[in-house]
Amino acid sequence: MDFVSFSPGDRAGRVVIAEAHAATAGALSWLLREQGYAVTAVSDRHELFDAIARTVPDLILIDGDVVQRDGAIIGQLRADQRWHDVRVIVTAPWAAVEDGGAGLPWGVDDCVSKPYRVPELLGRVRTQLRASGQIREARAALRDTTVELERARGDAASNRRLVDILHEVTGELSANEIYRLLARRVARALEISHCSVILARQGDAVGTIAAALEDSTVRDVEIRLEQFPEVSAALESERSILVEDACTHPLFAGMRQAWAAEGKDIEIRSVATIPFTIDRWRSGVLFLRTDRFERTLTSDDVEFADVVIRAAVAAIRRAQALETTRADNRRLEALATTDPLTRVLNRRALLDRLGAEVDRARRFDSALTLLLLDVDHFKQINDTAGHLAGDSVLRRLGALLEEAVRKVDIVARYGGEEFVVILPETTTDGAVVFAERLRERIAHQAFDVGVEQPVHLTVSVGIATFPSPRVASTEDLFARADEALYRAKSGGRNQVRT
Ligand code: GH3
Ligand code: MG
Ligand code: MG
Repeated sequence: MDFVSFSPGDRAGRVVIAEAHAATAGALSWLLREQGYAVTAVSDRHELFDAIARTVPDLILIDGDVVQRDGAIIGQLRADQRWHDVRVIVTAPWAAVEDGGAGLPWGVDDCVSKPYRVPELLGRVRTQLRASGQIREARAALRDTTVELERARGDAASNRRLVDILHEVTGELSANEIYRLLARRVARALEISHCSVILARQGDAVGTIAAALEDSTVRDVEIRLEQFPEVSAALESERSILVEDACTHPLFAGMRQAWAAEGKDIEIRSVATIPFTIDRWRSGVLFLRTDRFERTLTSDDVEFADVVIRAAVAAIRRAQALETTRADNRRLEALATTDPLTRVLNRRALLDRLGAEVDRARRFDSALTLLLLDVDHFKQINDTAGHLAGDSVLRRLGALLEEAVRKVDIVARYGGEEFVVILPETTTDGAVVFAERLRERIAHQAFDVGVEQPVHLTVSVGIATFPSPRVASTEDLFARADEALYRAKSGGRNQVRT
């Protein structure tokens, strides 16, 4: 008798008995309730469908007389999605089930012969209910798997969009380009109409729109943050703010009043602000908005935008580090090639450049001329105006030379108060004309260096040209220019010699 006993651990099944004979229905009901099942008894097909429409049972125990010969009722049961998993046992006279129920309508799960043998009936009921439980579990598992699969598909799709965006964001872009790209791509990925990047810091009254999807020309437009409580809230809390419904969210209470006072409709459906910080000076929010006719923003949207903005911040920081390094390199290179006092090329850089120019002149069979300038009686300037004034004079003179030459020419401080000017593609004649003009200009220049009297000075200039009879190298150039300079000095200074 073990197999018919009801064990309390079993989920009690819901059973509907469809039985035309009241006495049989009463006996069966009592029997099954004794086993712990929830039982409903009905007497015809109309009552049956009423009952199972109210509560879907696990099992229908249906009398052959209710089924009727054509079995249409079973077809009707099976055709309806709601009752797909309901087990059906038909009870019928012995003759009908003798051959294994072959004479019974298709779609019946089991049949029990009448008159009942109670242990057999209960055994079959129990078997069907167990099967029903298993089906229910299998369906639930399937449903979970489907949901899981859908979510995985959604994740995969959003991950793909994310990878697309991040791929662009991690390229070598400026911060402003990244902001523009973010606004455009996030809006497209989430299929929303408004997305912008607003730069502002905690406590700011005014923010700046760095990029807006709506209008790519909208840039550096200032907005008053009191009109954007969601922006301030995100900045203050350093957390994302999601306003699913602008009509009810407390954050918008003030705005709703203001709109109402102005007789304006609430056009916004949802808003989300995701804060970000690049460095001590730069922070802001990624701003998402949908209008009345659009969808509601969800925490998934915020999560998505958050991942994107984190990556963008990392890219901006990287770009910035790169730019700083480049600027440092430029500074170091400048330091290595520039004379710190006068800011013209130093002697080492001069020798590099001159070497290259001489090579060029050789290759293209052209000429270049070197001017060696030495300030006349510079010691006196130091002595009368002071050493600092002397420094200033050298600075001014360097600037004057830079300004006087063409772009292709090279100005350098050779040492002390001596400067070199290299004139590529220039013969001696041309160089003499230039040097004379320069000498005169310097002689007429009053150098105001912060002392009582402006300083006046003259220069002597020695010139040498490559190639020329005794000039075949850079060393020769310097040697000949130096000789010419000596002649200029000994000839009375303030003059140009070749
Ligand atoms: P001249 O060339 O006409 O013969 O006379 P000079 O007085 O210019 O003589 P010289 O070329 O021998 O002296 C150059 C002076 O320039 C010597 C040095 O004190 C001064 N001098 C060199 N470098 C600097 C500098 O960086 N700053 C200042 N203030 N003076 C410098
Ligand atoms: Mg000198
Ligand atoms: Mg001198």
